[in-house]
Order: sequence, then C-alpha cells, then structure tokens
Amino acid sequence: MIQFIDVSKYYDNGTAALKDVNLTIENGEFVFLVGSSGAGKTTLTKLLMREENVTKGQILLNDEDITSLEHREIPYLRRKMGVVFQDFRLLDDRTVYENVEFAMKIVGASARDIRRRVPVVLNQVGLNYKAKLFPRQLSGGEQQRVALARALVNNPSILIADEPTGNLNPKTAMEIMEIFESINRRGTTVIMATHAKDIVDMMKKRVVEIEDGEIVRDEVGGVYHA
Ligand code: ADP
Repeated sequence: MIQFIDVSKYYDNGTAALKDVNLTIENGEFVFLVGSSGAGKTTLTKLLMREENVTKGQILLNDEDITSLEHREIPYLRRKMGVVFQDFRLLDDRTVYENVEFAMKIVGASARDIRRRVPVVLNQVGLNYKAKLFPRQLSGGEQQRVALARALVNNPSILIADEPTGNLNPKTAMEIMEIFESINRRGTTVIMATHAKDIVDMMKKRVVEIEDGEIVRDEVGGVYHA
C-alpha cells in the first residue's frame, strides 16, 4: 500500500507543486492521475521514487516511511518500481534485447537469470521477434513496448507511467494500454499520469484529479472530466 499523508512539495524557487495531499493506493490498483499541465502529477510520482524530497508530510510504502530513507537505501526503493515515460528513453546504441538486459545488469542479476527472464518479458510485450533490432528501427509503439519490458524485467510491484501514450497514435496507444492492463491484472500496481481522455474514459479505472497541487477528485471507475 502507498500512503501520502499531508504531503506538500515546494520547489526551491517557491513553486507549491503539491499542497497537503492525502492519497492511499492499495496494492494491485490501477490509478490514473489527471489534471492540467503543471497540476503536480509528475511531482507526485517523483516524490514516490524519491527523485524529489517532500517539503512536508510522509509517504509510506507498505508502512515504511520512504521520506526518511538514507541515500544508500534509495536504490532498493527504486527496484520496487518500474518507470515508463512519454519519450521512451531507450539506449539508441543497444538492441532491444540489450536495452532490457541492461536493466537487469545494473541490479546485479546473474547471466543465467538474464538469459531466462529477458525473453519472457519481451514475449509479454509482444516483441520477441524484434530482439535484435535497434530502437531507430522500431515504430513508436514498439519503442514503448521495449521501455515497458525494461520497466518490468526486475519484477517491480509498482509501475509508474508518465504520459506513456503521449507520442503514440490512438490505435497504438490503445494497444499499449492493453499491455498495462494485463500487467495490472497480474497484480502490479499501476500509477499513470495522462492527458489521454479517450483512454481514461474507456478503461473505467480509479481517477485522481489534481489541480494546482491539490486532489480535487478521487473516483472509482471514473472518467477524465467529472
Ligand atoms: P504536471 O506533471 O501535472 O504537469 P508537475 O508536477 O510537473 O505537473 O509540476 C507542478 C508544478 O511544479 C508546476 O508549476 C511546475 O512548473 C513546477 N515544477 C516542476 N518541477 C519543478 C522544478 N524542478 N523546479 C521548480 N518548479 C518545478
């Protein structure tokens, strides 16, 4: 379970990005974060990953306060999370297989585990047959599948996505969403910041709307606009 308790975030320049946010997300939930640009969605995900520190409040992950973790403990926190971005962020000079493999190498996985696991996740995102290609040889949707495989390869309990379909056409976006949904069905918590109204309306998941750093709506089976 993830709990934000009275969380505020003020950036150094004084911007109040989040104000007294209280939010509980159960294990295995699928949550859309919606709201206009600058509302505070990305900040919320960055606090969860400890890419930014809270100004005030606590964030509990399975009852442990992650705001008080020491620097050396942060890599262990991040291993529980997979992240996908709008712009894919793949390594251009490595193949599909190597991009995914790399995520396992940096956490010290054995060669044997890597050989077993990488094909499994590539299969999960439907990209086994393109393992030897480079990112530039792939469509946007395929690149996002690689990014998803990379995010999943170390079996995170939480998958965070920041506008993952922002660079994709509607049909491809829908295919990517189906993968997110199947990952969620297997038990992974999904937290997705998005502007994709059609997708949010169709998927009927929990919708948390943020406006000027405050949660203004939290609705199960919600739509993009209340
Ligand atoms: P969203 O993801 O909803 O677009 P963000 O969390 O990125 O919103 O931003 C929330 C607010 O915080 C915005 O006003 C933004 O300009 C500001 N902000 C984000 N990052 C920083 C930063 N590193 N320094 C100062 N202000 C920031």
